[in-house]
Amino acid sequence: MDKVTDSIKVPLRGLPNGSHTFEYQADGEFFQTFGSEIVQDAICAISVVVTKSRDFVKLECTITGTVTVECDRCLDDLQIPIEVVRGLLVKYGSEEEEADVSSGDDDVMMVEDTAVQLDLSQFVYDYVCLALPLQMVHPEGECNPLMTAYLAKETGGEVSVECNMPFSGLKDLLDNKNN
Ligand SMILES: [Zn+2]
Repeated sequence: MDKVTDSIKVPLRGLPNGSHTFEYQADGEFFQTFGSEIVQDAICAISVVVTKSRDFVKLECTITGTVTVECDRCLDDLQIPIEVVRGLLVKYGSEEEEADVSSGDDDVMMVEDTAVQLDLSQFVYDYVCLALPLQMVHPEGECNPLMTAYLAKETGGEVSVECNMPFSGLKDLLDNKNN
C-alpha cells in the first residue's frame, strides 16, 4: 500500500512475475499540480493491478471518486462522479517498435529495459479529464436559485435597439464629404 498525492508510481524493476495490486489517491492538489483549471477539488481512489510476465507488464487501472468542477450555468460547485477502467500495456523496448504492438483496446507504453518504476500520474490525470462530460451543469432545477434568477433577468430582458443602423453615421460622413 503506497499513498501519494503528487505522483502515482508503479514499481517495475524487482517486481516478481504475477499479479500485484497498488492503491493510490489523487486529490485536488494532484490536479492542480498538472495545471487543471477545470478541476477545483477531487477525491479519487486509484487501484492499479499490475500483471507482470517475462516480456511485458499489463496494468489495469481503476479510478473511482468524485471531482468538483464549476457549474457552467450557475458557477456553483458541481460534483461529478468518476468511474474509469483502463488497460495499459507496458512493453520493453524502444519507441520505434511501438507501431508493431497489437494491444486491442489497451493503451501501449514503451519503457526502457532499465526502467525502475512507471509514473502513471499523467495517465490518471488524462483519464479523469477525458471522463468529464463536455457540458458540466447541475441537473435542471438544481442550480443556485439566485444565479438562475439573475440569468433569467439578463437574457429575458429588453433587447437594445441602439445600434439598429450601424452605417447611418458613416453615410452622413460620406454625404458631407461629397458636398
Ligand atoms: Zn448550476
